[in-house]
Amino acid sequence: AAKDLGRNRFHYFTASMQEEARYRMILIRDLRQAVNKKEFEIFYQPIIDLSTGEMHKAEALIRWHHPERGMVSPSEFIPVAEDTGLIIDIGNWVFSQAAKQSAHWRDKFGVEIQISINKSPIQFRDEGDSFEDWIVQLKDLNLASNSICVEITEGLLLDASMGVSEKLLAYRDAGIQVSLDDFGTGYSSLAYLKKFDIDYLKIDQSFTRNLESDTDDVTLCEAIIVMAHKLGMMVIAEGVETEYQKNLLAKAGCDYGQGYLFSRPIPAADFEQKYIRAIAEMGHEKVSS
Ligand code: C2E
Ligand code: MG
Ligand code: MG
Ligand code: MG
Repeated sequence: AAKDLGRNRFHYFTASMQEEARYRMILIRDLRQAVNKKEFEIFYQPIIDLSTGEMHKAEALIRWHHPERGMVSPSEFIPVAEDTGLIIDIGNWVFSQAAKQSAHWRDKFGVEIQISINKSPIQFRDEGDSFEDWIVQLKDLNLASNSICVEITEGLLLDASMGVSEKLLAYRDAGIQVSLDDFGTGYSSLAYLKKFDIDYLKIDQSFTRNLESDTDDVTLCEAIIVMAHKLGMMVIAEGVETEYQKNLLAKAGCDYGQGYLFSRPIPAADFEQKYIRAIAEMGHEKVSS
């Protein structure tokens, strides 16, 4: 009986692995099609200055409208896009969209905000890196280089093979700001904060989530903020969902907050209506939150 069970389990296991492989192949096929057919959209989530309540920045977050499945989450398809190299085309598209959007809001409303885009480590590989082309696009749109901020993750800083150091220096020379995303979740080595020129630390939402109940998380957030400031970086807290979290972070000196308390990521038209128009009508960059 034990042998039967074992065999059944084996069968079950291979079946589900086959299913997973098949599912993955379909996802890759669909993703290729999505790139060609432009099935993506960018949602924007405001980043709020915690001392004034003003909105200065937004993060561009990709959405995929799958023709049959509806909205597919980036956490599902970005890893596949990275494995297949499709992230290069997708990432370049995200950059162009964000840059055009930023120029559009400037031209139509006179409102300039900084848009952050997520750049995958795969995009840093020499054959795929379109950094020079991005600079040309910014020039063509007459956008200041700090109109775009590039979010990277800690893993990238560990990869010496891609000349990351030189690339980040080129960013600085070009005036493009850099955020370290999901700080505290990767293979963090504090030495990297000293070695690389980073403008913003984004405290991962796993630290902000339990601020109300976990005093260790309070301590960690406070320490990260002090450390970042002493190293000349500004701090953005991710995943701010409650007034309590916002107040605690503001009191600890956190510069910016991002999270559902202020807004979920929303389509460009909604973002324009809710934030850009409001700023234009008030004549300055103040949006209540
Ligand atoms: P991320 O860069 O850390 O982006 C923040 C994620 O947290 C977003 O998930 C956002 O919707 C979510 N979030 C924001 N505020 C809150 C909150 O208060 N509570 C909770 N629970 N979540 C919040 P999203 O949009 O699903 O994106 C997931 C990840 O996918 C991103 O994490 C990023 O790593 C990746 N991603 C998204 N767009 C792109 C892109 O254009 N290029 C690349 N390479 N990666 C992207
Ligand atoms: Mg990000
Ligand atoms: Mg993050
Ligand atoms: Mg993340």
